[in-house]
Amino acid sequence: MSDGDTERLRDRALEPAATSPQDAAAHGSPWVIRLGPGGVPETVLNSGLKLTSFAVLAAATPLDMALALLNQNELDDDSAVVVLDGDHVLGVWAGLDLATARLRGPSRQATDANLIGNAAFVPLISKACRHEQDHVRCTQPLTFAEKPMQMPDCPNAAGLTPHRFSW
Ligand SMILES: [Zn+2]
Repeated sequence: MSDGDTERLRDRALEPAATSPQDAAAHGSPWVIRLGPGGVPETVLNSGLKLTSFAVLAAATPLDMALALLNQNELDDDSAVVVLDGDHVLGVWAGLDLATARLRGPSRQATDANLIGNAAFVPLISKACRHEQDHVRCTQPLTFAEKPMQMPDCPNAAGLTPHRFSW
């Protein structure tokens, strides 16, 4: 594989992840990632065991493309990027290193056209619903390929008044 000078996600300082809180405690991992069918990350918990919004990207994804994707889909600053190497989790890109890179932004042109049809890109984004009712935040997590033009109905596990998912 000839990478040239393209920086890719796997070149960043990734933090280790575990698949259960027990494992995380045993190995000192700051992240707990629960995997669903087919090994797809379903939920990501931070070191405070709080649900975190996240994007899932392949380790070979060029850094510019990853940053463009996070911006286009309006991922929050405290979101995590789960980096997959094939079908296993290589690590989590988050914290100061991610924040600094996002602040700098993509170093070269990374347009929609670059994102489409690139084999390195695993399109998966998970967000927690921001809908609020009587000061109660819904926080229902939902998974998307990209930010939808029209938001779907929220599964609303918290049993608030029926509402559309709030990005
Ligand atoms: Zn909701």
